[in-house]
Amino acid sequence: MSPVDGRLPGDSGTAVADDRPGDDRFNAKPFVRATDPELAALLDAELDRQEQTLELIPSENLASPAVLDALGSWLNNKYAEGTPGKRYYGGCQVVDQIEILARDRAKELFGAEHANVQPHSGTQANMAVYQSALEPGDRVLGMALDQGGHLTHGSPVSFSGKIYHFEPYFVSEETGVLDMDAVRRRALEVMPKMIVAGYSSYPRILDFPAFAEIAKEVNALLLVDMAHFAGLVAGGAHPSPVPHADFVTLTTHKTMRGPWGAIILCKAQHADSVDKSVVPGVQGGPHPHGMAAKAVMLHQCLQPEFRTYARQVVANAAALARGLRARGAVLTTGGTENHLMVIDLRPYGLRGRAVQAAFDEAGITVNANTFPGHGGTPFNPNGIRLGSPSVTSRGMQEPEMDEIAGLIVALLEDLEGRATRESVRGRSLDLCRRFPLPYRSAA
Ligand SMILES: *Cc1c(COP(=O)(O)O)cnc(C)c1O
Repeated sequence: MSPVDGRLPGDSGTAVADDRPGDDRFNAKPFVRATDPELAALLDAELDRQEQTLELIPSENLASPAVLDALGSWLNNKYAEGTPGKRYYGGCQVVDQIEILARDRAKELFGAEHANVQPHSGTQANMAVYQSALEPGDRVLGMALDQGGHLTHGSPVSFSGKIYHFEPYFVSEETGVLDMDAVRRRALEVMPKMIVAGYSSYPRILDFPAFAEIAKEVNALLLVDMAHFAGLVAGGAHPSPVPHADFVTLTTHKTMRGPWGAIILCKAQHADSVDKSVVPGVQGGPHPHGMAAKAVMLHQCLQPEFRTYARQVVANAAALARGLRARGAVLTTGGTENHLMVIDLRPYGLRGRAVQAAFDEAGITVNANTFPGHGGTPFNPNGIRLGSPSVTSRGMQEPEMDEIAGLIVALLEDLEGRATRESVRGRSLDLCRRFPLPYRSAA
């Protein structure tokens, strides 16, 4: 990647030459800079933070300058409630074409029968799927939340747990891995109307054919929430749930490396009800700028370079896991098959909150996370979750992952040590400088 041509390592497209003077200060966002210095200073501060920290939160990534270009455009000015050709507003001729382009690219990328590219976030996507297929009070089977499931999979503090009757399935206590025979037994007990497969912090590949078979056996619909691993599927580095599921939801800002938002894929027979459940069911106007940025992202995901990126994300996660284990760290399930992993902090006698804070000071961003049988509380769990998508977008590869593993274990073994923290800070900053972000010179 070159910060000068404004591309991420996986992007194709035309280089943008930087012929503006003064590369020392960030010269993008010139209009904010010219009119609102107060906010411009905050934009600079956040860019500094992103540039100077190793981002290991597995749900975060770097959107390319092309994605951000579409996002920050005049498409923002348009209301377009409805779907292409069936809008509640006039003036939608161009937005129709943009939405159709994004939809067609999503269908092509994932081999899906129908795509809705309007959801503002993964939560709205799941909400729309539930609304299209379920009645309030219906039973749904989802992964236990403290074992890797998501808030929208039935948490009592989420709409999902308030409106629908969620029941959990669990991972094996011995291995931490999902045992599909146990999932099947739970399905036969609960007899749900829908089964949700998907996670926010589970480091293994899900068995989609087995989920589909169980759903069929109990006559349930299958939703695969691939919010986290959609980019791996898009890049051919992970099996696809699309042929097996009635509905698939995905976020576009995680491994897809696009704008904040989500997409719903479904079988043709559900297309109408899904579209109506998004608008007017759970949203007002779709974001035309967001749909355009999704189209740009999908175009990037269809390029061979994105396949290289997705494979590198998985290879980097494996290298990070290897490096951690070689230095004595314990990972839940013993490792990873995707882009994320969870370190068990108990052998170090540490808790998640303190670790997260100490890592922040050392320039490494992680998040505290529960894991099966972790014994902590949701607010202060005994695990931290790490992922490779963002550092891979900076161009880092296996040797850097091993270096990062060394930094992580050094900190865990001496969390309060000032000298250790300072030396890790120096080395994380050095890595960040060797792999800069692409934003400073791009408009
Ligand atoms: C991130 C995530 C979502 C959606 O989250 P938003 O923050 O609403 O975009 C949904 N499901 C899973 C499994 C996730 O990890």
